[in-house]
Amino acid sequence: MGLLIGTSSKMNLTSSEAAAYLDALRPMVADVDDRILFVLLPFTSIWVARDRLAGSNVRWGAQDVHPEDAGAHTGDVSAPMVADLGCTYVEVGHHERRRDYGETDELVAAKVAAAQRWGMTAIACVGEARRGTLDEVAEVLDKQLRRLVECDLARLVIAYEPAWAIGVGSQAAPPEWVGKAHAAIRERLAATGAPGSDVPIIYGGSVGPNEGAALLEQPDVDGLFVGRQALDPRVFAAIAHTPVQR
Ligand code: PEP
Repeated sequence: MGLLIGTSSKMNLTSSEAAAYLDALRPMVADVDDRILFVLLPFTSIWVARDRLAGSNVRWGAQDVHPEDAGAHTGDVSAPMVADLGCTYVEVGHHERRRDYGETDELVAAKVAAAQRWGMTAIACVGEARRGTLDEVAEVLDKQLRRLVECDLARLVIAYEPAWAIGVGSQAAPPEWVGKAHAAIRERLAATGAPGSDVPIIYGGSVGPNEGAALLEQPDVDGLFVGRQALDPRVFAAIAHTPVQR
């Protein structure tokens, strides 16, 4: 299983800004051939990724989709719409969407299914709101994963993103903690009896160039999901090159 290193720009990067960002990023990561790189942009900038990244080693995707394919849902964007723009990945269930729109585990699973119906891989975010004991966290993760394990595991990535590690003023979770949380997720996936051990589990939450290597040393950390720090393409390129020793 190859490492996955990606970013969501969240509600940043207009089409023009995304063009400049991707034009800067592409040559800086052109030599990366031992891991999968991806960039998730706002809906309005995905066409730019299709134009600027086609034929490169960087895949692109969306930060959300509606669970239905079409219909009377003003302002929403569906999986076939982003699939048509060449998206490989669709992120669902980020903490900020659960917080701002009250997204439930059921809705998140329906969005995963929508992305998968259209041939894309869903990156489903899980993670606890408050730091507790490992047992408490495992319980939260178990609940969040319950519906996800019913989805197509071959087109699923789990992103472990503890809410307390996300955002300005936060720090990345300690690598040992992340390793234990990922092991708990792996155990839950394996318990499905399906080939859950193949589902990549990536870590997100205040990751920068200084945190990446120690996180990737953890056996069940299959990649990094970078937020605000990757808004500088040079920083994302540096993280994309993180050496791995394990
Ligand atoms: C995230 O939300 O996935 C994330 C990594 O954000 P930040 O870098 O802002 O912590």
